[in-house]
Amino acid sequence: MTIKTIGFVAHDEKKPELVSWVEKNQNQLKDLSILSTGTTGTLIQEKCPQLNVTRLKSGPLGGDQQLGAAICEARLDAMVFFIDPLSPHPHDVDVKALLRLAILYNVPFACNVASADALKSLLT
Ligand code: PGA
Repeated sequence: MTIKTIGFVAHDEKKPELVSWVEKNQNQLKDLSILSTGTTGTLIQEKCPQLNVTRLKSGPLGGDQQLGAAICEARLDAMVFFIDPLSPHPHDVDVKALLRLAILYNVPFACNVASADALKSLLT
């Protein structure tokens, strides 16, 4: 499996964890295209300006659905979504829909640091 485009999303409480994971692994990410929801993407760009980040809508405004559409259209090869399991989110249905499409299209989906670390083995 060749990963050319990877998606990044983090719920608010998980954003620091995701940004520090991206920063730590930016060498492995530098040749990839990154799709990210609005706020997560802004934080990644601020910390790692050399990465190729395309910012979508913010998650609650449709960004998760845009990532789902990218999976359907074979424009997204892997997802890292640090989900906060301890807070309610108004767009839970969108998160579930994104996860469903990742499962349907057999797209690797990491939802915490341990699974994101495992996903690194797929990056060239
Ligand atoms: P955000 O969206 O990156 O725009 O905060 C993330 C989310 O789906 O909650």
